[in-house]
Amino acid sequence: MPFNKLGLFSSIVRAVAAKGYGEPTPIQQQAIPVVLSGRDLIASAQTGTGKTAAFALPILNRLGPHKLPAPRVLVLEPTRELAAQVDEAFREFGQFTDVRTALIHGGVGYGAQRNALHKGSDIVIATVGRLMDFLHERALRLDNLEVLVLDEVDRMLDMGFIKDVKQIVSLCPKKRQTLFFSATVPPEIEAVARFALHDPVRIAIGRARSVNESVTHAIYPVSQGLKFQLLLALLEKTDFNSVLVFTRTKHGADKIARKLEAAKHTVAVLHGNRSQGQRTAALKGFKDGRFEVMVATDIAARGIDVAGVSHVINYDIPMTPDDYVHRIGRTGRAAAVGDAFTLVTPEETNDVRAIERFIKATIPQLKLEGFDYHAAPPPGQPTQGDFRGRRQGQGRSSGGGSRGGGGGGRPAAAGAAHHPKGKPGGHWHTGGRH
Ligand code: AMP
Repeated sequence: MPFNKLGLFSSIVRAVAAKGYGEPTPIQQQAIPVVLSGRDLIASAQTGTGKTAAFALPILNRLGPHKLPAPRVLVLEPTRELAAQVDEAFREFGQFTDVRTALIHGGVGYGAQRNALHKGSDIVIATVGRLMDFLHERALRLDNLEVLVLDEVDRMLDMGFIKDVKQIVSLCPKKRQTLFFSATVPPEIEAVARFALHDPVRIAIGRARSVNESVTHAIYPVSQGLKFQLLLALLEKTDFNSVLVFTRTKHGADKIARKLEAAKHTVAVLHGNRSQGQRTAALKGFKDGRFEVMVATDIAARGIDVAGVSHVINYDIPMTPDDYVHRIGRTGRAAAVGDAFTLVTPEETNDVRAIERFIKATIPQLKLEGFDYHAAPPPGQPTQGDFRGRRQGQGRSSGGGSRGGGGGGRPAAAGAAHHPKGKPGGHWHTGGRH
């Protein structure tokens, strides 16, 4: 069913068309009528499914024109980046209305945010900590709230915010609409839902543990000492739009970024030790295409939407299988095609097995053609975790589980190195599989 048949006003449908959306995604098809009806909702949906529009469009529709007293809508997000992204979505979808939004998050000054609240913003999009500050200083009251959105609740739980979230819920009027989004809904989250929601409609989109079908993924076994060399070689042999490289630690992210810069790549870094200004600049520069690579810790793995991330590389294997799904969900969003690769040392083989059990699929194992797996590691590199003794062909068999596998089935022009941004495609020149 097209957007104009979902019961949305023409001002909203026009904004959707201006964004270039064709058909609503499955979560939009299912959630928009529920939200318009005023009922509470629990939606479990994978990241990248279009869930922001699934709540933003019908909320804007229900709000009508700007009205005081404000706010009438509160959206809680786990991270500053997500809050900023959702605020931008509301502003874009509300561009033909006079509705006002306020973005409230930590890491920046209080003044401008306090002013926005004082002037009266219909929709407040906030992270938990800064919102609590404003509630304590009474710069904000929630008495007039009509809609409460709890987004990425599983992430908020992981980050230890649940007590604050419950307190915020208890400050909202009893008569309100509550919308609840979480990739997974384990029992702890059910408990929060019981506390916050009244007779909700439930929607589940796709298997929460599945890998987005538009992503091809593969693992590249390598010794610890040659890991960075392999990353460089992968970057050199690919034709990419933009690449997100994940490391486990903030220190690791800084180190890899410095080394990539030394190898003449343009690099942004995103992790929790950077100032808000640096985080915003990194993300903006990466989105604009000024940086071809962004090195990030898992802070960037949830929900961040960068159109055109053609490749995700897990330099370090993620801490949990769940993080794997989130990390590689950064590419292949909204049906674009993307590749996701994980560099794996022998010590990490068990982690790969755990991920495969979690996603119920075998991840194809690839070797980069032309890369010298027998080279001595550069000075200063650890030598443990060595795959060099293993003969080609001894790895687990590839195939199964995922569509294609890395470059498999995707022809790429021979000899192509980096291509300028904006060039469509972006395929790896990989050698044959084991
Ligand atoms: P989300 O899951 O809300 O973070 O959305 C993921 C990406 O899909 C964002 O870039 C959205 O702009 C995009 N998107 C959402 N809905 C649609 C749609 N109906 N058609 C095309 N792209 C969409």
